[in-house]
Amino acid sequence: MAQDCLFCKIIAGEIPSKKIYEDDLMYAFYDIDPQAPVHFLVVPKEHIPSADQLDERTAGTVGRIFLTIARLARELGLENGYRIVNNCGEDGGQTVGHLHFHVLGGRLLAWPPG
Ligand code: AMP
Ligand code: ZN
Repeated sequence: MAQDCLFCKIIAGEIPSKKIYEDDLMYAFYDIDPQAPVHFLVVPKEHIPSADQLDERTAGTVGRIFLTIARLARELGLENGYRIVNNCGEDGGQTVGHLHFHVLGGRLLAWPPG
């Protein structure tokens, strides 16, 4: 756990969240400021600062996260599609320095993003 990391504190239960799922590798919870009818985040339990910091070992966790996203999306009724977003670094719009994947659905999403 990294000191002063918002998502590490959420994973540890020190800050409340609306949990959807967790296992040994990941924690999934609803975004506090939803940008679509369904908007949740999936984070690795290990503190990885961003997608840019992945390595051969932690890359496997991302694969497991994507499999879980597909299952949760089905369970949450996103049969018509959804978007997985990773904001990486300052220009990518990342505001929390703990790797996370946004999952957005329940409406038609515009492309390209701004
Ligand atoms: P990003 O801008 O990609 O780093 O995404 C950070 C996301 O975390 C934003 O969509 C925020 O709304 C969300 N967020 C911030 N604080 C919380 C919180 N306490 N619980 C749930 N989501 C949060
Ligand atoms: Zn963290």
